[in-house]
Amino acid sequence: MNSKSKRFWSRNKRFRLMLTLELAVMLPAAALIYVNFHHLKSIKGDKNVEATIHRDFQYVLSVAEKKINDRIYTMAEETRDLFPSPADSELDKEKKLDSILSQNPRLSHVFFFDAEKGLAFRSPPQQMTDRFFREEHDRMSLMFGGWFGMEGKMVCDGMHSKARGMTCYGDQVKRASGFGYMTTAFFTFPQFPADRIVFGGASFDPDYLKQTFFPEMFEEIISQKMAEDRGNQLAMTVFATNEDQDPGGKSLVASTGWGEGKPEVTRNLDDVFRGLTLGIKFQGTSAEAIAGRWIQQGFIILGALSLLMIGGLVLTYRSVSKEMALARLKSDFVSNVSHELRTPLSLIQLYAETLELGRITTQEKKEEYYRIIRKESERLGKLITNILDFSRIEAGRKEYDLRETDIAELVRNTLDTYRYQIEKSGFEFETSIESNIPTMKLDREAIARALLNLVNNAIKYSADEKFLNVKLYRTNGTVKLEVVDRGIGIARRDQAKIFEKFYRTCDPLVHDTKGSGLGLSLVRHITHAHGGEVEVESAPGKGSRFTLSLPLAAEADREANVIASGAGA
Ligand code: ADP
Repeated sequence: MNSKSKRFWSRNKRFRLMLTLELAVMLPAAALIYVNFHHLKSIKGDKNVEATIHRDFQYVLSVAEKKINDRIYTMAEETRDLFPSPADSELDKEKKLDSILSQNPRLSHVFFFDAEKGLAFRSPPQQMTDRFFREEHDRMSLMFGGWFGMEGKMVCDGMHSKARGMTCYGDQVKRASGFGYMTTAFFTFPQFPADRIVFGGASFDPDYLKQTFFPEMFEEIISQKMAEDRGNQLAMTVFATNEDQDPGGKSLVASTGWGEGKPEVTRNLDDVFRGLTLGIKFQGTSAEAIAGRWIQQGFIILGALSLLMIGGLVLTYRSVSKEMALARLKSDFVSNVSHELRTPLSLIQLYAETLELGRITTQEKKEEYYRIIRKESERLGKLITNILDFSRIEAGRKEYDLRETDIAELVRNTLDTYRYQIEKSGFEFETSIESNIPTMKLDREAIARALLNLVNNAIKYSADEKFLNVKLYRTNGTVKLEVVDRGIGIARRDQAKIFEKFYRTCDPLVHDTKGSGLGLSLVRHITHAHGGEVEVESAPGKGSRFTLSLPLAAEADREANVIASGAGA
């Protein structure tokens, strides 16, 4: 398969993989996000969140009204138990009523009506000095006296028909302190037969209702609701339903934290506090603001999810591409290496057999055959050493034997061994080796192998101009080893990749030249293990310069690096 069709198949495979991934994961995730997005939009449009909050508030207010009524009825029942009986003399009745008033400062008036004996209406004597209060007393006793005289039976029957045998009557009143609201509970006595027109009543003091009763009820209702929900802090108020009935100002009582603004939801009270309206809202915020924030959060979460999804797609695409490229490189590697192993082996076999048959007569020819066998076994040896080194590095088991070494001598000796071979293959070979470099701790074998890999590449990848220059010099605390050629060069985009394992460029000369793609990755590993760096400068068609920089640094540093680079290739 040529490289073009290989690339086509790999691209096709990648496309199919991405398609599967998108269909299996991305499509459902995207659909989910899309549906949620529309759902949020419709929630926003229909004001669903506000409606839910309002429904909840309406429920809270209905429970609140029941609680408030219950409390008043219970207090009225407690008072009723203290009431006189019809058998008592008029004087005793008044005494008993006065004693009820003195025990219950929360009451403004109490009365007892017996159709046979008339009405006893009492108010606390100490309050009668207040003009407004006295007027209220006179007005009520007169009004109740007349009313009960005419409609006592109807009032009594009305109460008997109720579950608790009671009814309430609320009204605006005026006191020295201003306008207030007073409610009066009317009750029958269960111990008397239903056909006797006897009943009593007690009026709850407006100041008590305003300063004690409502604030306590609000606190109780709010804290119970907060314990159930733990949401935003609530505030409650009660005000006159009809504004003209309350010239003193709209709000009769408001819980702490009511602040400014209108109630979120209201409920007109019936029964005990007819004429008053309960209101509720959040402290410092509104249902609209809460809904807005809720929806905004929803959109932000969806946006973040979409971004994550796109990020995930990009990452998956990149890692899939990387994995597939690596898989391709590996398969190339296997075919290259097998070929590289087979070629020298078959040559060795061929020449050894020819020699064995004794067909070669001239000494010169024999020597040439021996040389070829030696050269091919060397090539084989080098390849196997590279592969073994590579597998040790991959397994994290590669160790370097660092000893004090004269690097100039090491480089000179290594090059001298190959000089004849290099020059024989038509290369102009120059070396420039500084000799005053101090000894450094090196793994001799590893550095020699790195140098040979670079030299070998320079020879392999030079076409028309056969030139090789190896330089060794010292500069600013580092020793530099340069291998320069005027070969085919390396494109800019490939320059970082050639140091990766298995990587080979697409140049036709590279394609026709055998190689494993391991050489430079070993060079890099060896240099890192010595605490150094390897760099390449190259231009296609002009040649390349590979530079190893090895620091003349403290030993400790280098050892640390040996451990670090031994951990990964
Ligand atoms: P191999 O030579 O076995 O393919 P290497 O790791 O030594 O593997 O090199 C990786 C690739 O870098 C080579 O395949 C080649 O494309 C490129 N390369 C290395 N050295 C040179 C050079 N001196 N000139 C041009 N290309 C080079």
